[in-house]
Amino acid sequence: MLDRSFNRNSDRNLTDSSPNRDHLRSAEDRGRCRNRVLVRGVVQGVGFRPFVYRLATEEQLAGSIGNDTEGVTIEIEGTRDRLDAFLTRLRTETPPLARIDSVSVSDIPPTGEEGFHIVASEVKGQVATGIPADAATCPDCLRELLDPTDRRYRYPFLNCTNCGPRFTITRRIPYDRPQTSMAKFRMCPACQAEYDDPLNRRFHAQPNACWACGPQLTLETPAGRPILADDPVAEVIERLLAGQILAIKGIGGFHLSADATNSAAVQRLRERKHRYGKPLAIMVRHIAAARLLCDLTPGEESLLQTPARPIVLARARPANGIAPEVAPGIPWLGIFLPYAPLQHLLFADPRVKALVMTSANLSEEPIAIDNDEARQRLGAIADAFLMHDREILQRCDDSVVALVDGAPQIIRRARGFVPLGIELPFEVPPLLAVGGHLKSVFTLARGRHAYQSQHLGDLENLTGLEFFEGSLAHLMHTFEIEPEFVVRDMHPGYLSSTWAEKWAADRKLPVIEVQHHHAHIAACMAEHGLESPVIGLSLDGTGYGTDGRIWGGEVLIARLDGFDRYAHLAYVPMPGGEAAIREPWRMALGHLHAASMDLNVPFLREALGTSAKEIALLLRMMGRGLNTPLTSSCGRLFDAVAALVLRRRKVDYEAQAAIELEGAAVDEVDRFDRQEYVLELLKGSEHTQGMVLSSAKMWRAIIDDLRRSVPKERIAAQFHSGVANGFIAAAANARENTGIHQVALSGGCLHNRRLARLLRAGLEKEGFAVFQQRQVSPGDGGLSYGQAVVGAAIVKRQAHGPSSS
Ligand SMILES: [Zn+2]
Ligand SMILES: [Zn+2]
Repeated sequence: MLDRSFNRNSDRNLTDSSPNRDHLRSAEDRGRCRNRVLVRGVVQGVGFRPFVYRLATEEQLAGSIGNDTEGVTIEIEGTRDRLDAFLTRLRTETPPLARIDSVSVSDIPPTGEEGFHIVASEVKGQVATGIPADAATCPDCLRELLDPTDRRYRYPFLNCTNCGPRFTITRRIPYDRPQTSMAKFRMCPACQAEYDDPLNRRFHAQPNACWACGPQLTLETPAGRPILADDPVAEVIERLLAGQILAIKGIGGFHLSADATNSAAVQRLRERKHRYGKPLAIMVRHIAAARLLCDLTPGEESLLQTPARPIVLARARPANGIAPEVAPGIPWLGIFLPYAPLQHLLFADPRVKALVMTSANLSEEPIAIDNDEARQRLGAIADAFLMHDREILQRCDDSVVALVDGAPQIIRRARGFVPLGIELPFEVPPLLAVGGHLKSVFTLARGRHAYQSQHLGDLENLTGLEFFEGSLAHLMHTFEIEPEFVVRDMHPGYLSSTWAEKWAADRKLPVIEVQHHHAHIAACMAEHGLESPVIGLSLDGTGYGTDGRIWGGEVLIARLDGFDRYAHLAYVPMPGGEAAIREPWRMALGHLHAASMDLNVPFLREALGTSAKEIALLLRMMGRGLNTPLTSSCGRLFDAVAALVLRRRKVDYEAQAAIELEGAAVDEVDRFDRQEYVLELLKGSEHTQGMVLSSAKMWRAIIDDLRRSVPKERIAAQFHSGVANGFIAAAANARENTGIHQVALSGGCLHNRRLARLLRAGLEKEGFAVFQQRQVSPGDGGLSYGQAVVGAAIVKRQAHGPSSS
């Protein structure tokens, strides 16, 4: 038996993989050959079987295709040439939503079968493919939507096997119409005929629907009274253009929408939503419209147009007509393109230029999905509600992606990505990792796959916790994963930690604690399949350290199952604890105090917007160590510098000060005095055993420059360079002592594109191999993936026993 296996990373052509093909060809051409072809990857519920049916028919081949637990199995019979053409086209003409991870082909005896069949297979056993992710309206459906002669003209819920909702409408597996919220809509004869025809684009398209048989829109007042309109979409457009705020039911939840070019409307939305500073995402008609708003790189353009249709962070163009209230204080916009037919209909009106489309919730609560829930929670925010009667079963925010250092990096992984699996570097037992505190995401894993939940928001409130539990139950069922152990953060006070302890105790499962910054680095290692030790630069906001202090600017010598702390930013006081996160001026005082600078000078008081009395109070707090934890956080260093340089006294959302500092820095100034701001690498102080990076000299230089009225753009840029250079020096020092030349970058500060770029460029110049995260967020959204890997590595080590180590 000839067995040819290859994976998707291989460039080899299918027909090249059998060396003696030319000799065999003439003989084989006369007879028939039969192959069994196993295809692995995302190949179920994405139109793969009809695609194969069409290929086989076109190549005049006989055989069959059926789903199995890991993908599809094809048996195919005909002449060798036709078979080869089929196998090549299988990989080159793959449907848009399918992803082939591997194809293995084996020769089996021909049977003389006639015709090609799709086998309706009962899938038993553990399911690795599960439910596909939601996908944007495809070009074929979009054409029908806008074609007055099509029977689905302006139908807001059209879809096909190449597009439409999937994860968000599915109650349980297998992914089949009765298991989705389409169950209550009985297909009309025309839709049923499409659904049953293997050559139709809607063959087995589970959410298939039309005007006659599918979901419908309704418009209502905040009080729940119907608003009568011939065309609810046209009525919504008029209201938006008049400055109203609309709650619009979408794919993964409700959006709050307003005209993004109307300052008063955007401001009203902010006030009603109690969201003052945080940037709002905006949707525009198509890629050409996006180009008018932002300076887009080719990479950003292709990200905007992927079937996942994420929000992409891109640099805003000046005078682009967008209300400044959309993203105050920062030079980027979060933009995205329509991904649901209803959204395309809104933009079909040329008067609609750009719409704010923000998750419909109050500040950090989960996004609303249910009609009653929306009426209740959004009644005081929206002027009208555009509802529909297709239930959203899985809550899913819009995903957020940015191009970092030339490649996409996921910032918020939700609609369009969930529940696709992420590969693991080794086999793991079934496990649950619960993540952190903010930006909560859990991870279920088994075998070589990790499944991250959608972004769940902050766990602080009850709705957040219910969302967490609901999503966990759903994904445990979907992937048939019964965890054998639970992994949590080391922080005893995280809600996720106490929840994990209780959940595990109820099931008599062991719990493994993982240090926050180790989990970040392990996530980066795992994504790149690194199992040998690395130098991990974990530049982060805050995380609980093994010494009980608040870490966040860490140089770790990391293995998957453990780490040594090699160096870190020198500890500084954080006067007021959590209050210092919300009020960066406190952090600046903490840093200046640690740098032994005189705080009671009018210049500093003015820059920090504080008084002699407040300073005296904080000095007393720090002197006595009252409510003043020590921190080595890199994020808090950014906050402190932003407080002083940008006069950002308080923040409205997490990381606001640091984001504004990144936004203030401009490239041209990089040419000046790069080395002026330095983090000094020193032998450990009384607080630590390892090396420390001290920012004391940097603070003196910054104060000097502020006094000399050096532009804030230049100070911001030099600060970024100074931080990068400090950590590069620490990595070089670690390499001298360990011989390790691989560096993994992680932590929330790696969302800072300038910092990420400077670190990579500088480290590569020093001869390091540098690894950055792409599929999983380097921030807390990626934490649980790292926890899963560390937990599994510890269990693996324990299983091998102490004798083997
Ligand atoms: Zn379609
Ligand atoms: Zn129909």
